[in-house]
Amino acid sequence: MSNNSIGLSSNLHTYLLQASLRELPVAEELRQETELRNDANMQIAPEQGQFMSLLWQMIGARSGIEIGVYTGYSALWSALALPPSGYLLACDNNPDTARVAQRYWARAELSDRIDLRIGPALATLDEQVQAGHAGTYDFAFIDADKENQITYYERCMALVRQGGVIAADNTLWKGRVADDLDQSTTTEAIRAFNKHVVTDQRVDMSLVPIADGLTLARKR
Ligand code: SAH
Ligand code: CA
Repeated sequence: MSNNSIGLSSNLHTYLLQASLRELPVAEELRQETELRNDANMQIAPEQGQFMSLLWQMIGARSGIEIGVYTGYSALWSALALPPSGYLLACDNNPDTARVAQRYWARAELSDRIDLRIGPALATLDEQVQAGHAGTYDFAFIDADKENQITYYERCMALVRQGGVIAADNTLWKGRVADDLDQSTTTEAIRAFNKHVVTDQRVDMSLVPIADGLTLARKR
């Protein structure tokens, strides 16, 4: 398995997985099928999936939003945290990778709780606000085009309830955020997002150094 975790040596990362990972066989198969693709590094790390699933259970989540589904691995973990009557709004604009996702969600018997919306995520989120669902979601996971990270965060702030949690992925960006010489559009977008959240008095927050960096923000 590729080491997608900054900060841990390969050896210690392997130990962490051996000592703590509880991954369903269907999730493992999806992760491994995805790892054969050349864009597989977009998939969250398994220990991160387990961590988010635990987090959603800790807040008693019944509904959530995922922005950036890809082949469905992170959504599978999130949906597992929901009760059978739960609801996950899953947004992505790529129908091809989403087909892989749907195949595995069906096998995991999670299709009933995942509502896949193919199209620009921003349009789907705006629709939710217009439909009167502001303040109703328990969590949101943001993992799509980083240039829109702040915009997605603001829509999620509108859509989650008080006490709801927004998680944003890749906020350490393989360490590039700390490299002053890296002024690429995406790196700058992530720096701007990190600044946006740490100065946002509407939330309590933490940048958790798991995998590629996961920022958690709880709406006050
Ligand atoms: N969370 C996934 C990985 C997401 S990769 C996992 O852990 O497996 C990022 C995804 O964002 C890609 O599938 C891409 O199609 C999607 N994406 C990028 N820009 C988007 C947009 N504007 N609207 C919706 N989805 C978008
Ligand atoms: Ca990611």
